[in-house]
This record gives sequence, C-alpha cells and structure tokens, in this order.
Amino acid sequence: MWNMHVSSAHMLASLVSGRMSPFMSSNSSLSLGRVVGPGLMRVGFASSSASASSSASASASSASAASAQPAVAEENDDVQSSSSSSSVNTHVMMQTQQLQLRNSSEPSSSSSPLAVRNDWNIDEVREILARPVLDLVFDASRVHREHFPANQVQKCTLLSVKTGGCPETCGYCSQSSSWSKDTKMKATPLMDLDGVLEAAKRAKEAGSTRFCMGAAWRGPSQVGPRQWNRVLSMVSEVRSMGMEVCATLGMLEGDQATQLKDAGLTAYNHNIDTSREHYPNVTSSRSFDDRLETIKMARDAGLSVCTGGILGLGEDPHVDRASFLHTLATMETHPESVPVNSLVAVPGTPLGKLAAAKAAKGEGASAGVPPLDLVRVIAAARILMPRTTLRLSAGRSSLSRGEQALAFLAGANSIFTGDTLLTTPNVAEDDDTAMFRELGLQGKPPFQGAYKAFE
Ligand code: SF4
Repeated sequence: MWNMHVSSAHMLASLVSGRMSPFMSSNSSLSLGRVVGPGLMRVGFASSSASASSSASASASSASAASAQPAVAEENDDVQSSSSSSSVNTHVMMQTQQLQLRNSSEPSSSSSPLAVRNDWNIDEVREILARPVLDLVFDASRVHREHFPANQVQKCTLLSVKTGGCPETCGYCSQSSSWSKDTKMKATPLMDLDGVLEAAKRAKEAGSTRFCMGAAWRGPSQVGPRQWNRVLSMVSEVRSMGMEVCATLGMLEGDQATQLKDAGLTAYNHNIDTSREHYPNVTSSRSFDDRLETIKMARDAGLSVCTGGILGLGEDPHVDRASFLHTLATMETHPESVPVNSLVAVPGTPLGKLAAAKAAKGEGASAGVPPLDLVRVIAAARILMPRTTLRLSAGRSSLSRGEQALAFLAGANSIFTGDTLLTTPNVAEDDDTAMFRELGLQGKPPFQGAYKAFE
C-alpha cells in the first residue's frame, strides 16, 4: 500500500556496487529541444552517446512503450513524436530569440508543442538527472508551464482508514507487524464510515480537493465482504462530496479494481517505491512485478494511476533513481499522479534502525534526503512526464518554505495537507495557508488537469 507512512530505514548497506556512473560522458551533448512552433521549443533531451547506446533493459522498455499514450494523443493530435528527432542537436535553437518563456499563469492551449514521450531510454534519463540543477529546474519549469497553471498546487488529504498490523515487510514502514514490537505501532480496525466522512468533510473545508484513503493490508483479499463493502461505501460517499477519491489498499485482483471503479474511485495508488534493481532490498514479501501487476489491474479497470516512490531508501542516487524514473516514464500511459516522498526514518523499522546506527557512527544518515536531490528528481520527472501531477509528499515537513518553492518551480504541483501522513508528521495547516499566501499559490479544483482520464 501507500508508502507515505514512510518511516524508516534499512539496507543502506545493500547499495549495488560497481554500477555505471550516470554522469554524462565528456562526449555527450544534451539536445535541449527543437523549435516546433512560433517562438516555442520542444524539450527533448538526447545525447550523441545516449542515442547510440541504450541498455538492453531500456530497449525492452522502449519497445513495449512505443505506442502513443491514448489519453494524451487525444489532446495532442498536432504534436509530432519527438523520439525520432531526439538526436537532433539543437543547442543553437536554445538561443534566445527562439525561446519564448511563458509567464502566464495559464498553461498553453491544447495545441501545446511539447511532446509527451514514453520511449525514453535509460541513458537519456540518467543524463537528465545528472544535469546542473539550475538548468534542470529551468527547463522543467518551462515544461510545467506548458501543461499546468504555473501557480496552481492541489491540496490532498491522506487518511489511514486501517492502521498497523500489515503482513507486508516494507523496510521503511512503521505499520508492518514484523517489527511492531519495536515501533510500538498498534493495529487498529477499519474505521467506521461516519469517521471517514467526517475527516473528508474537514479536508474539503480546509481546501483539499482530493481525498486518499490508505489501509495497511497486503490487499483487499485478506479481508471479508463486510469490511470490503465498507471500503466501497467510503469511496462512494466521499466521491458524492465532490472530491477526487484515491485509495491505497495493497495488491488488487481485477474484480476488486472494477468494484472500486464502479463505486466511484478516481485513482488507485500503488507505489513502485524505487528501482527494480533496488526493490528486493526494500521488501521481501512481494516483488517489483507484483507492483506493476496491480498497477495494470487499476489501469485496466479504468482507474487513474497514482504511483511514485521514496527517496532515501539506500538507493544509489543516480543509478537507482534514474531506473525508478525510467520505469514510470516508459509506462504505456504515464501515471496521472506521481508522489515523490523522502524517507522519514521511523525508529524501530529496519531503515530507521540503520539510519540510527549510521548517525551514531557520525555518518550523517539521519540528515535524510538532501532537498536539492528531491528537487532534482521532481524536475526530471516533470520533463519526463509533462502532464503528470507530481505530489510533494512525505518528508515535506523537513523542507523550508524556500525549498518547497523551488520544488514547485521544478514542477511539483500537489501537496498533502493535514497534521499527519498516515503515521508520519506533516506540515501544520496554518503553515501551508501562510505558504500559499506568501508564494501566491492557488488550489486546484477537483477533476481538472492535463489528463482527463480520471473524470
Ligand atoms: S508494510 Fe504494509 S502498510 Fe506499510 S507500506 Fe508496506 S504494504 Fe503498506
């Protein structure tokens, strides 16, 4: 289920050694785009080295993802595929007079020239991620403003409707029963309907337009029909309040996804967490492919997909994060929503214990994910998935207002409000109100966005 209750730490020691450096080779050159309309440029990043040599896994992914994304294609019939042109070196076109920065608070019309690609190869992703951070943020911001209102940030609220006692073994999570003696997390029963509706009402009054419900289950199959029907009622009732409704309930069967869709669910969250390569170091109770299978179930049922990950799980900051982004950006249809979390190391969890041990040795692991790492990943995600809502999620409470502003500039356009994110602390509501005022941000109405699939 959702990993925002992100809390802990383990397996930093499992960093894969000997992986290739993601930094650009000296002969690579980033192709920043090509002019496709009056004064506008398409952002497409490629390098001479990258175009010549994609990895085998990247090739496989690219092949499987070569088809256009239906939801996007409908809105972008006039957009040419940029994949065939990505090797065009357009440094020259980057020059000033052909670049028109968009200062409007409105996104461009449906004739946006920016292509949405799902055929990125892993070398391209690595090179984007390794760019100087100011260049990256600059380009990401431009992409963002082509697809979204510049100052619009959606407020979402996440409620744990069933906490603790989870049979899964996610090393960052305080809710696993495997280490509940250490975390002191007590399992609670599924909330009653009235309690959930009261929470949703409060969230709506506070400006949230999306309400997410999380249950610490391996999946709905582990519960009986009474609890399942109560969850379906929660979905229906919250939806009738006029909010987008998201759920994160673990692994789905096809018929469960269909029932959720029929009940009015907008989106299903199921994070891939990290790279395929690093995933076995994060949990042992399920595989990366299990995650992808549930995402497919949700997609096949017509649900909008929300899937992202957590930074700070002991992954290689270049290789694993590039692989993580590559998986998302080469999905046949990009996820409509990608939460980006920073690990909140909860004492008693495997990752929490590891962070504490490192801190005791003076290795600084307790400092968490550097804010600019987070900004870098958000900016890369914005460039790779221009129409996706990027949600600045767990770990936000450790960011200054200025760091959050940089994340918004890089393309983040959603936050989670409320005092807690499942089981970890969050920014106080008053602070968010003040931040919106200071930065001139506006909330996003429900059921609006670059993708229409979730309506
Ligand atoms: S342990 Fe359970 S509740 Fe925690 S992230 Fe994993 S699946 Fe979700």
